Amino acid sequence: MSNNATQLIHSIPVDPLTGSIAVPIYQTSTFVQEAPGINKGYDYARTGNPTRAVLEDIIAKLEYGKVGVAFGSGLAAIDAVIKLLESGDEILAVDDIYGGAFRLFTHIYQKFGIKVNYTDTTNAENVFHAVTPNTKLIWIETPTNPTLKISDIEAIAKIARANHCLLCVDNTFASPALQQPLLRGADIVVHSATKYLGGHSDLIAGLVVTKEKELGEKIKFIQNASGAILSPFDSWLVIRGIETLPLRIKQHCANAQAVAEFLAIHPAVDKVYYPGLKNHQNHEIAAKQSEGFGGIVSFTLKDDTEEAATAFVTSTRYFKLAESLGGVKSLVCHPAQMTHKSIPAEKRRAAGVSDSLVRLSVGLEEVTDLVSDLDTALNALLNTKTKNKTVTA
Ligand SMILES: *Cc1c(COP(=O)(O)O)cnc(C)c1O
Repeated sequence: MSNNATQLIHSIPVDPLTGSIAVPIYQTSTFVQEAPGINKGYDYARTGNPTRAVLEDIIAKLEYGKVGVAFGSGLAAIDAVIKLLESGDEILAVDDIYGGAFRLFTHIYQKFGIKVNYTDTTNAENVFHAVTPNTKLIWIETPTNPTLKISDIEAIAKIARANHCLLCVDNTFASPALQQPLLRGADIVVHSATKYLGGHSDLIAGLVVTKEKELGEKIKFIQNASGAILSPFDSWLVIRGIETLPLRIKQHCANAQAVAEFLAIHPAVDKVYYPGLKNHQNHEIAAKQSEGFGGIVSFTLKDDTEEAATAFVTSTRYFKLAESLGGVKSLVCHPAQMTHKSIPAEKRRAAGVSDSLVRLSVGLEEVTDLVSDLDTALNALLNTKTKNKTVTA
């Protein structure tokens, strides 16, 4: 199933009031009523805003769900999903989980009596064995951040259904341009729209999409009760980002594939993690459930130390050192010292995030420039090493 660019572009409505081809930004807090309770569908902008509603409608369509809800950040979206649970419930989550989700589960929800079990979901059998009678929610990311592990959405959805628990997929890395988890049996999709959906590194936003209307209404209730809405202006920016999503994603995938293939043969590089490489552990599953392998490439260095990684990430020219991903400009990040700092070192290493692991968000620059940038920075590592050796010898 694919999200056709024509359909996507024309699912963004022309304003019915004025004909404005761009979606209007309704910068308002309240809406005038004809009589108490008689209004045009909106009463207060926390509950609903027409600009946000356009975005919510678009993302619901793109993910083939019934209800979309837009939040002030990806973590606010994740938080709303966890609020579906009650004290005593358990979450079964992918071990290589986004650091912020780990922090939220551990430091906020554990004290309210929600337990989280982590397992390697790349093999669906592990999920089958890890489910307990109290598991109410299975949480996966595929590909994961930052080691690009792939889990079989269909196989895990079957296990979720058989055990009467919900399956939520964090679809941030693939985006709906490549992968639609709800069509493969998931109940909920969440996004950090900060990444590919926004696409320009200029906003923070989150989205939840549900397969069923009833569950969507619950998420809307939670949002209205808790308040973590997306502003009209940021909703508008995400809409504008989505207009070019298929085009951008195509180029991100092509550039990332070339970068991954280059890294795989460079002498300073140890392992490359990219689902588009034939030797990736779950390449076949990735090829089955998504239409491309995405724009994120991670790798480790032969010199598996924090020092070598630091030297590398501070010497690239086009890959800017920053957290986040999914924008037009290429970014480089050292998870152990940045995004995954809040995960204890032992746990982090056990999940495959070694000390020298570097994550690239491959942008939309000319791919030859990107490859030559990486080549220069990697060769510098090799040269320093040789120099040190000569000095000590
Ligand atoms: C960035 C990210 C989040 C969190 O989103 P924010 O918009 O930063 O709150 C959640 N999941 C994944 C996979 C992410 O990359």
